Amino acid sequence: MRIGIAKIMQETSTFSTQPTDLAAMMVHQVYHGQDVLWQPTMWEGFVEGFLDVVRHLDAVGVTKVTAMPAGNLTAAAQAHLLAWFEADLRAAMPLDGLLLSLHGAFAGDLDPDIDGLLIERARQLVGPDVPIGVCLDLHANLTQRMVAHADIIDVMHTHPHVDMKEVGARVARTLVATLAGKVRPAVVAVKIPMFTPAETQISDEPPLRDLMEMTRRQESNPRVLHSAVCAVQPWMDVPEMGWCAVVTTDGDMDLAAVKARELAALAWSQRRDYTRPCPGYMEALDAAFAAEVRPVVIADLNDLMTGGGTGDSTWYLKELLKRNPADPCYVTVVDPEAVARMAAAGEGARVTLELGGKQDHLHSTPARVSGRVLKVMPVAPDRELPETIGLTAVLQMGQVYAVVFERLGPGADPMLYSGAGLDPTCAKIMIAKSVVDFRHGYKDVARLFLLGAAPGLAPCDLLSLPWHRVQRPIVPLDPEMEWNPMAAPLYRGHGRAQFAADQRPSREGEVRE
Ligand SMILES: [Zn+2]
Repeated sequence: MRIGIAKIMQETSTFSTQPTDLAAMMVHQVYHGQDVLWQPTMWEGFVEGFLDVVRHLDAVGVTKVTAMPAGNLTAAAQAHLLAWFEADLRAAMPLDGLLLSLHGAFAGDLDPDIDGLLIERARQLVGPDVPIGVCLDLHANLTQRMVAHADIIDVMHTHPHVDMKEVGARVARTLVATLAGKVRPAVVAVKIPMFTPAETQISDEPPLRDLMEMTRRQESNPRVLHSAVCAVQPWMDVPEMGWCAVVTTDGDMDLAAVKARELAALAWSQRRDYTRPCPGYMEALDAAFAAEVRPVVIADLNDLMTGGGTGDSTWYLKELLKRNPADPCYVTVVDPEAVARMAAAGEGARVTLELGGKQDHLHSTPARVSGRVLKVMPVAPDRELPETIGLTAVLQMGQVYAVVFERLGPGADPMLYSGAGLDPTCAKIMIAKSVVDFRHGYKDVARLFLLGAAPGLAPCDLLSLPWHRVQRPIVPLDPEMEWNPMAAPLYRGHGRAQFAADQRPSREGEVRE
């Protein structure tokens, strides 16, 4: 049995100043064919879950492209991406099934729904009879086109994201059961006219916890194969923007509709609960310096490196320098020019340079800094930092240490400091360019977590963004709007025609359309 596996993941902030062009897609190498399957990865994802299940079958690699979060995919880059995917998929055929690891919030200049475009192309190539299983990030923006061409859809249930491998394995198991004739997946989704700040979407705290508990309760019904919610990332100005509930049942479209509506109704009832005041960065620094414990990790959440921030905001850097702390404080800055200057000057040299504030010129200005180049780390196999961040150097300015690198990196991971030779346990304050995932990344080292908003491309104040394309009305732009989950249109999955032809009476289906 031949199961194709593809991984094409990027999370787009349509407000970003940095386009996702061909170079951005090539930063992490592009893989084709069997090379897709056996590349070691730093973090286990959906594909590792797929492989756990289909390893004993014939797993067939298709395409792997992963780009860091940034702005829209350019037209030229889209053409390359589609050409790779189509050629690789043709080479992989014939296939009995296809598993796709997608983000679900990938937008382009030509098409606001790149994930939908890829699933549609896959369907056109493999034909109507080959089941397609799709795995998505919790922050996916699920669209009608994505649902229409998929047979099975499941979504991460955690934020911080820690269940990718598990979700991948679950979808792969349903795909294998489908091929064995044991289940007939039926997908229904209900789009919810709301989007919410990301920093309050924490899966083990209410309100998101209550929603995730409902998905698990629904899945205790053996006819419900997958119950999930996409809590879309909130920096996407696209027409079909919004949360979505999506349920896959065994052969029962009506039951899937009932369960999806139930989830949508709960999510809708919580729509105001995600918006809470977010402290500013000055307030967060005051609280961190006043705290008796250390290290304190402060999320510079509006410069989120894994969600549309450019990682080069200088608000914290400038304020820390101004406060001239007595204990070590660590920040990261994405700045290819500065790191090249530091490398040219060499370890131990004193330099004065303009640091950061160049890519997100809308919100930050460069900081003029002087300090000593403590360390320069070229990209090499033996270093502990991801090679994709490029050349890396540490600038010491009194007790403020800036780890400077060329390209975006894992903002939620203290490895950015420890891999650069800075001991996280020695710090008073560490700045993480993350929104929620840092709570997981720093869980073994941090004694206190704080949020502090500084101006940036991924603001927690969603009303501050220039929305133009999103469909109206929608919460939070139209906070008083009314909406009835029980009357909302349904998106039906690929099996819809077949199930409609069955005319089977539903067992639990109060809703028959
Ligand atoms: Zn996410």
